[in-house]
Amino acid sequence: MKPKSIKPDELNKIFSELKKGEESAIGSYLVKGVRLQISKYNLSGAERVQLLYKRRRAQGLCIVCGKKVTKKNPSTDQLYRLCEEHRNKIDKGTK
Ligand SMILES: [Zn+2]
Repeated sequence: MKPKSIKPDELNKIFSELKKGEESAIGSYLVKGVRLQISKYNLSGAERVQLLYKRRRAQGLCIVCGKKVTKKNPSTDQLYRLCEEHRNKIDKGTK
């Protein structure tokens, strides 16, 4: 995962999320040239994938490839979980 560059002040927000046990604190950060990695310990492979999907979903990215999703599902008015390419590949297969 590529670390996200943050300002030293932003550490407070991350640490307070971490203290509350919120998963939003998890990530890889770059502060003044120092890499800070906050990750779950002893995750199983399935849990790791679940977490990644959850994070991508929250950011509106395709859960398979991480590409930005731009289209909304007209029936729910929410962004699709998948990019056009994967939606065609995966969703159409289930119909
Ligand atoms: Zn995709």
